Amino acid sequence: MLVSVRRTHTCGALRTNHVGIPVVLQGWVDAARDMGGLVFLDLRDRHGITQVTVDARSPEEAREVATRCRLEFVVEVEGEVVLRSRPNDRLPTGAVEVVARSIRILSRTPPMPFAIRDDAQVNEDTRLRYRYLDLRRPSLAQNLVTRHRAAQAARRVLDALGFLEVETPVLGRATPEGARDYLVPSRIHPGSWYALPQSPQLFKQILMVAGIDRYFQIVKCFRDEDLRADRQPEFTQIDLEISFATREVVMEVTERVIDTLWSEITGHGIGEVPRLSYAEALSRFGRDAPDVRFGLEHVEVSDPLRATEFGLVRAALDAGGICKVFRVPGAAGDTSRKVLDQWAGFVKPYGLAGILTARVGEDGAWSGGLAKLSESEQAALRAATGAEPGDLLVGAAGPAGAVHAGLGALRVRVARERGLVPPGVFRFCWITDFPGFEWDAEEQRWTAVHHPFTSPLPEHLDLLGTGREGEIRAAAYDLVCNGYEIGGGSIRIHDPDVQAKVFATLGIGLEEARAKFGFLLEALAYGAPPHGGIAIGFDRCVMLLAGTDNIRDVIAFPKTTRAQDLMNGAPAPVDARALAELKVRNTV
Ligand code: ASP
Repeated sequence: MLVSVRRTHTCGALRTNHVGIPVVLQGWVDAARDMGGLVFLDLRDRHGITQVTVDARSPEEAREVATRCRLEFVVEVEGEVVLRSRPNDRLPTGAVEVVARSIRILSRTPPMPFAIRDDAQVNEDTRLRYRYLDLRRPSLAQNLVTRHRAAQAARRVLDALGFLEVETPVLGRATPEGARDYLVPSRIHPGSWYALPQSPQLFKQILMVAGIDRYFQIVKCFRDEDLRADRQPEFTQIDLEISFATREVVMEVTERVIDTLWSEITGHGIGEVPRLSYAEALSRFGRDAPDVRFGLEHVEVSDPLRATEFGLVRAALDAGGICKVFRVPGAAGDTSRKVLDQWAGFVKPYGLAGILTARVGEDGAWSGGLAKLSESEQAALRAATGAEPGDLLVGAAGPAGAVHAGLGALRVRVARERGLVPPGVFRFCWITDFPGFEWDAEEQRWTAVHHPFTSPLPEHLDLLGTGREGEIRAAAYDLVCNGYEIGGGSIRIHDPDVQAKVFATLGIGLEEARAKFGFLLEALAYGAPPHGGIAIGFDRCVMLLAGTDNIRDVIAFPKTTRAQDLMNGAPAPVDARALAELKVRNTV
């Protein structure tokens, strides 16, 4: 405790062993009950709530001030800790109360725009507008505590593993993580712009060339993309890079970091983390960030149905598509027609015409669209899925991408609706062997699935420049928890010749590469150690640890899904003089 601080305890500290001692508490009035001659004030700070009693034992002046205390006034109370005659089990401090000797009002307030309570029904825009009031709510304050503890834990474990925390610039050049950049005009170099980093990718690789063999940074990254509930325009990564690393090393270090975070906050480590190839993840779960807390695994049944007479399926397969199904145990009886229609509507935005279903009757007979399959085809599906009487089969046929995505999303929805997602459980997995390149049909060129500095698997290096780039697998890996991608990284290219070939594959000419990444290519030429790394999505980790699915709940001052700060009004127009100085003109 700092000696110069007047407050002797926080509002969450007092217990029965404090009975009889004089204390000074400072905090906000969480509740004020004036019973005439007896006033109860609940005093709150981020540590908790303590009841203050003002009655005949208190001096006249304290009693008078107590009657003037309103909700959320800031007050200082001096008094003595006594046992409560009726303890309150719901408060950690509930066995005691403070009998006030003096009360000082330190700050007043008009009535609150919303009640400072966790259960208050307030829309999020109002909460964000008055974020300082929102953050007084115990659950949000607790989220900031969780975030702080997670950050400290990450620093401790990385320090212990020999990592050096190095800061990299915020004003930099565009980095190729695939999103739009936030740009900052330069006053000193009119017409030139800085880009805010989408990640410190190039700097961390250059730090490896510089000999800083284990780097980390808890760092803000900026991406101007369309937002979702789990995305923010500026977000925080635990970014790392390791020299002389294989992917095993990076994965092991990452597991240590995540295990430390989870142990620190939940008291439980993360256990063994299974690995799945990208192809396996798509095939079994329909997505590369699968939620493996529950079953409902997909089974591909294209082969046994190739010659089917069931027109819908046949047409999809003939067109080069696939057919997948998954089994929902025991759902034949209690899944209404209406629910099936809802599921069919749900998959449409993924590019599917609808879903295929079969209820397996108690006698084993099928009803629903899939009943159009022949006996032997039904038998093949039964064998592939393990379907039993009472089960429901759900499937789809169409282009592979649409089937994976549509059924992947439906699998999660069905699990939620049927209560198959176990609460309070965290399941992690690694996804490996991602494709290195993806064909962009619109632009008629290859694009990097991860980023252009990701190394192909060593055994696939020879495929560069052969026209078989689609077969190349990258030395990239993602860490997934409960269906959220919480980290992604790769082994990098450290050979400038390979890097040049990859740029060529991506249609980035030598000139363009030199102009954009010349400094990296040059650095790589000066003795680059083999290296690799990863970035862990810190906000998402804290979101999971805090048990919320809204990333804004774990960020002190988040932006809305329209990238606005409702408290300070950013983004906002700037005055004409500032623009003139930057030689920038508004065209809107
Ligand atoms: N820079 C990458 C990203 O932000 C992560 C990495 O490859 O280390 O996604």
